[in-house]
Amino acid sequence: LAVEGVRSLRPYQPGKPIDELARELGLNESDIVKLASNENPMGPSPAALEAIRRETAELHRYPDGAGFVLKKTLSDKLNVRSEQITLGNGSSDILDFIVRVFVNDGDNVVVSQHAFAIYGLVARTVGADCIAVPAKDFGHDLEAMLGAINERTRIVFVTNPNNPTGTWNHRDELIAFLNKVPENVIVLLDEAYFEYVHEADYPNGIELLDQYPNLVVTRTFSKAYGLASLRVGYGVSSPELADLMNRVRPPFNVDSFALAAANAAMLDEEYVRESIALNDRGMNYLTSAFDNLGLSYIPSVGNFISFRVPDGVDAMEVYSGLLKQGVIVRPVANYEMPEYLRVSIGTESENEIFIRALQKVLA
Ligand code: PMP
Repeated sequence: LAVEGVRSLRPYQPGKPIDELARELGLNESDIVKLASNENPMGPSPAALEAIRRETAELHRYPDGAGFVLKKTLSDKLNVRSEQITLGNGSSDILDFIVRVFVNDGDNVVVSQHAFAIYGLVARTVGADCIAVPAKDFGHDLEAMLGAINERTRIVFVTNPNNPTGTWNHRDELIAFLNKVPENVIVLLDEAYFEYVHEADYPNGIELLDQYPNLVVTRTFSKAYGLASLRVGYGVSSPELADLMNRVRPPFNVDSFALAAANAAMLDEEYVRESIALNDRGMNYLTSAFDNLGLSYIPSVGNFISFRVPDGVDAMEVYSGLLKQGVIVRPVANYEMPEYLRVSIGTESENEIFIRALQKVLA
């Protein structure tokens, strides 16, 4: 009885719960080092925790379905109007809304090879095709993606920086691309890792919105803000596109704890700065360690990095060898990168434990 095509979808594969995994491995939960989901290893800001505590007094009330306070804070910080913002249960919710607003059965969306997997999944849910354009040096080849657009294309997904490659597109490239995308095709610019990027010619998508009415930018509280468990993200677009997305948005899709914590986290700028500084130090440590081990990797501007296992070694064996020592990383064979493993940047000690475990596996 299922809608046609649903049976052919492959569900997104989340990892096992940590307590269950620890039991299986015969380890204590505290011995597990999880570097598999690009989370903030410092956790959330204490101000966010305090906001959640305060919110427990209102547990019997529905959340503010319009997200008034969070939208106000976001609009101040991002220099946009509240009417331009759509709140999501994680930024993945926004991907779902944009597809439901614009994509029909028989249409298509364009993505890059090695791009974050959710785009194709949501597009196929509504009976659309997903055209994956070959990557260039693991990154998005925007010229080639332009060339793949046809009369049935409704959305092009650009992930900047991309997960799991950590690659990014420069301002000039992105602007040249946006200038050529037909006006009736939406560009969904996924900036889930925006806060981590320092490169001078990395474009801030939100600053481009005035010039490109077909642009939607998504960001999230799951990464630099350390609130992955609460599921809260947002889209910024023209008020017209935001209005359309808000029409398909389920009522109360973001709960009170998420709204309050996201608001407090957004205001605690010092905490985000510290989180990013920790990430920078961890990235330097890991890339030096990979260099010392003679392992190649894809230079990344995110809070994760994909490294290549040595020739003749099976990445899944390295993955299992790490897992046996309690270190969880992410295999990326489903991203057409079977020789790579992705590791999230952890705390200083987590990074060291990971490198020691990796040395052991490769010895
Ligand atoms: N986009 C990218 C590129 C991601 O890597 C992720 C999370 N892995 C998301 C979007 C979704 O994040 P969330 O729904 O937690 O905001």
